[in-house]
Formats: sequence, structure tokens, C-alpha cells
Amino acid sequence: MKLTRLRLHGFKSFVDQSDFLIEPGLTGIVGPNGCGKSNLVEGLRWVMGESSHKTLRAAEMDDVIFAGSKERPARNVAEVGLTLDNSAHEAPQPWTAEETLEVARRVERGKGSSYRINGREVRARDVQILFADASTGARSPSLVRQGQVGEIINAKPEARRRVLEEAAGIAGLHVRRHEAELR
Ligand code: ATP
Ligand code: MG
Repeated sequence: MKLTRLRLHGFKSFVDQSDFLIEPGLTGIVGPNGCGKSNLVEGLRWVMGESSHKTLRAAEMDDVIFAGSKERPARNVAEVGLTLDNSAHEAPQPWTAEETLEVARRVERGKGSSYRINGREVRARDVQILFADASTGARSPSLVRQGQVGEIINAKPEARRRVLEEAAGIAGLHVRRHEAELR
């Protein structure tokens, strides 16, 4: 599944709706220090279900909401939408037949976050399963943070195995097994 569009609204420094089309090939994001390059990648991680506020450089989850500036008041809602091209129909059920998927995550100050896929409310776990199958989740080895290469080298075997399983595309099976065990 290809990522084709990222839409941020009220997320960190993206106070107004910002729309990024992701075209085929290599995409680079350039700009001066503090212009929001890392915030953009964190928006991508967040919509894919990142649950650790530390990974997003936020003291708590609500801190991903635009906190205000000299000119603009703070906002109370942040939303990020990620559009996926599913023309190869690789998404799991019940999304397999859809041509495109829009995964959206929204957080309201003090009220936690909610997820939608193509407008339908879903659980965080459904979003995790979708991206775990596509090997592109918030924790996926395809999103490499600064310092992460060193961490993998020094990691315990169990943690290193998880990275390899993600890369091999079988991490989704673990999420499903865990679900089955809970039932
Ligand atoms: P560098 O080149 O230094 O890595 P960058 O382009 O990656 O910079 P970011 O770290 O993405 O920059 O953006 C930092 C800016 O985002 C800071 O000015 C910070 O105040 C702003 N910012 C972060 N969180 C929020 C928030 N919740 N509300 C408003 N602004 C925020
Ligand atoms: Mg940065």
C-alpha cells in the first residue's frame, strides 16, 4: 500500500490545514531549523497509532495539539489524515475491496483520541493491524528515528527479533494471536 497524502490540522505547528501529496519516488523535506520537518514525520507516526507521547516529543498526548503562538490562540483539536492507495487490494478485511483508504486520527483536549477508516469509527487496534500487515506501522523499522540504528545494535535478542519480524511482514500475526487469546 502506497502512502499518497498526509493532511494535518491543528497538529503541533501545523495550525491551519496542511496537505501534502506524496508522489511516487523519493520525497525529501527541506527547510530551516524549527520549520516542522520532524513534526510532519511525527504526524505520520501518530496517525499510524503511535501511543508513546515520548516518541512524539510530547510531555503528554494532548501536547500534540497546537499550543498557540504570539499571533494565534491554541487549538483544542488536532487531526491527521493519511491516504493510502489500495488499488492492489492488499489491505486486510473489511477494507480489501476499497481503492483508497483514509485513516484519520483525532484528539480533543482532555478527551483522548479516536480513529476512523474511510469515515467509519474504528479501534486503535484496527489501525495497528492495518499497518502491521503493510509493515509500515508507527513502530515499523521503515520509520527510522535518530539514534535508532545504535539502539538496534545494542538491543536484547527479543527486541531485535521484533524488528526482524516487522521487516518480514509477520508482525500482524502477533497482533491477531493476541486478539484471539483475549477472546
Ligand atoms: P530541525 O531542523 O531543527 O530538526 P524541524 O524542522 O524538524 O527542525 P520541528 O522539530 O518539527 O522542526 O518543529 C519545531 C517547532 O514546532 C518548534 O518551533 C515548536 O515550538 C513547534 N511545536 C512543537 N509542538 C508544538 C505545539 N504543540 N504547538 C505549537 N507549536 C509546536
Ligand atoms: Mg527535526
